[in-house]
Amino acid sequence: MMVDANHEIFMQNVQGPAWDLSSEYAAPDAPTVEADLDAVTALLDEIEALNVGLTAADPVPTAQAIYKLSVSARELLANLSTYASCRLSVDSRDDAAQHLVGRLTNFEKRSSELLEPLAQFTDLATDDVVDRYLEDPEVAPTSFLVSHSRKRRDEILSLNEENLLSSLSQDGIHAWGTLYDQLSGTIQCELLVGNELKSVGVAEAAGLTMVPDDAQRERAFRAINAAWTEHEEACAAAVNAIAGWRLEVCRKRSGSRDVHFLDAPTHMSRIERGTLDTLLEVAAKARPLAQRAASLQARAYGKAGFGPWDQRAPAPTLDGSSDISIPFDEAIDIIANAYGDVDPSMGEFVRMMVANEWVEGTVGPNKRPGAYCTGFAKSRTPRVYMTYQGGASDVITLAHELGHAYHAWVMRDLPISQQSYGMSLGETASTFGEALVRDAMLKRATTPAEQLDILWEEISALVGFVLNIPTRFEFERNFYEKRAERPLRPDELREMMSDAWRTWYGESLAEPDPMFWANKLHFYISGISFYNFPYLFGYLFSMGVYAERNTADSFFERYQALLRDTGRMTAEELARSHLAVELTDEAFWLRTVNSMAPRVDAFEALLDDLAL
Ligand SMILES: [Zn+2]
Repeated sequence: MMVDANHEIFMQNVQGPAWDLSSEYAAPDAPTVEADLDAVTALLDEIEALNVGLTAADPVPTAQAIYKLSVSARELLANLSTYASCRLSVDSRDDAAQHLVGRLTNFEKRSSELLEPLAQFTDLATDDVVDRYLEDPEVAPTSFLVSHSRKRRDEILSLNEENLLSSLSQDGIHAWGTLYDQLSGTIQCELLVGNELKSVGVAEAAGLTMVPDDAQRERAFRAINAAWTEHEEACAAAVNAIAGWRLEVCRKRSGSRDVHFLDAPTHMSRIERGTLDTLLEVAAKARPLAQRAASLQARAYGKAGFGPWDQRAPAPTLDGSSDISIPFDEAIDIIANAYGDVDPSMGEFVRMMVANEWVEGTVGPNKRPGAYCTGFAKSRTPRVYMTYQGGASDVITLAHELGHAYHAWVMRDLPISQQSYGMSLGETASTFGEALVRDAMLKRATTPAEQLDILWEEISALVGFVLNIPTRFEFERNFYEKRAERPLRPDELREMMSDAWRTWYGESLAEPDPMFWANKLHFYISGISFYNFPYLFGYLFSMGVYAERNTADSFFERYQALLRDTGRMTAEELARSHLAVELTDEAFWLRTVNSMAPRVDAFEALLDDLAL
């Protein structure tokens, strides 16, 4: 690639700073890394020696001792693995970090095998034995995790059956997921890029569904689907096997009550089935608003219907508008001011992240794409990773990741067992931070092009969460119900998928995406099913918290307390204690949906102003 000297100087002023990882380790082959690995080995050896004691007449003291050792082992392993993956994000060719990752895999495998007996003990022991186990002050903080896991103890098979199931799953359900990953990594899409006929991988073609050129997006979408259609028999075999495996496991686990295929995913998300039902009823009620938003997005592109290739379309480019670029320092000012409006300490937190060199925002040739927030278990300090290039969406991404970092910061003094939360609550602080900054940017936007950029993101989110996510859920649920009788053919899967699109997008839709069951990776993740509704929950829940911001007394204190409890309460308990709402009651959700209507109105008014 040619490097333009002016562009280089320009990027120097716009891009973000590099992060500092040296506070953790000097290098992936530093003596301190070896020392931590040795310490892990010693801890795991001790656990291995203790494990036999779990079958003793009184296993409680042994279980408590194993738990304490496991906390230290996990902390060290997490620290090392975060360090290695942070290094690889910045330079994917970092050989020393690659080497460390390889070594850690064996440690992690050994650790999870050695800790399985403790997990079975806490799941299967009688209530009074578990109560005694939890009496130790260092173990007591795990009581939420233990009791949540025990809710499904009536599904547990015999130890031999569980071991057999988990060893067979490697070449069973997980092999189908691997097959899909290999297919999606190797199949080629033929398409016109500009005037040139090209053959590109699926990931590259998917990148072309995010460009402003409407015709190019559509061509990329059709090329992707043509490629998947050639492999539809393999995909159908995989998706039928994955669902069939899970349904069979549910049947085997139904000894004392009928286990439903939605039991595991809702339990994992720490929400009740009743909450999921309410959530989908509310999404159905929000459908007209979201369909209106989708129609407006199509109108902005001068067409009648929203196409499946428009899901990740950027705002249309306006005539005569020039690219606006927000330097990193200015972005931090915007975010710190918006966060600081909730409470000064939140603004100070943002500035501290930068001052401590905990944010990686440089532009580099070997950086991995994407953005994330992670944290070091030993020092309990967060890190934010992204490639900052100055666009409005970069500012919003930065605000999102700093939200995750704030969430971790607020929880940093809690026991490690209370710091992890389900996917449904995981996006609370990030979506909140995003909404804060989007509103601040909208207020500060001076040109219609800037306003369009920001409102577009918001409207895309509404359409994505309220129409696309339920489309995925509805297909998957209908598929599992039918799959219980027999495997489905590719044409049946296409029809079922098209029906789900029509149900949710209604009149706003140009045409459905019949191949969405094949081209969407989420249906092939072998470790987790229904990887869809937690997104809808997270979006509506955090927008609900955001809507409380201007109405509730002492909002900040309550917000902080809510975040702190995300790792030790179910979503229902959290909403009850901090928002005084019942999640199985539509009222809370409908208030949130109604708070979004003015945003769709504002979007329509802007399109009118722009004569789009
Ligand atoms: Zn996030």
